[in-house]
Amino acid sequence: MEPHDEIENVLQPDALLWAMEPLGPPLGEAACSSWDSRRFPTPQEQQAAFDGEPTVPERGIPQARAMCRTCPLLESCRRYAQDSRDEHAFLAGATVDERRKKWRKTGEIAKRRRRVAELHALHVPTATIAQLLQCGESSIRSDLRKLGKGRSHLPPTA
Ligand code: SF4
Repeated sequence: MEPHDEIENVLQPDALLWAMEPLGPPLGEAACSSWDSRRFPTPQEQQAAFDGEPTVPERGIPQARAMCRTCPLLESCRRYAQDSRDEHAFLAGATVDERRKKWRKTGEIAKRRRRVAELHALHVPTATIAQLLQCGESSIRSDLRKLGKGRSHLPPTA
């Protein structure tokens, strides 16, 4: 018997499926699920905006953004956008391009933190880490705090 067989015997199939599946779209009454005639002249134009293909971008994007701001599912939609890395739809008040920029920034921060952790483990002083990584010392201190390496563990600055 494989280890996962035991788990399958203990857990409800739905629970296991739910845990294994990527995070789904938010459940509930989304603002974008019904036509807002005050913001969009036609349901089709609204749909196109949320499909990420606005027929009139200068109108569709701000109006879709405004709808998202009032949506009760905004937070869960934001998490879904982040976790799913959806590359098409307008989600949680942001276009795909806007989300891509954020993903890049998040990736850069994660990469810098990995370097900070490695250098810190080698007892490289904070100021030197900042110089090596060409960023402010305060960013490095912040990274170290996020990495759980509080002030008392910081090596002295150069
Ligand atoms: S936050 Fe915006 S895209 Fe997400 S469900 Fe609500 S209205 Fe739709």
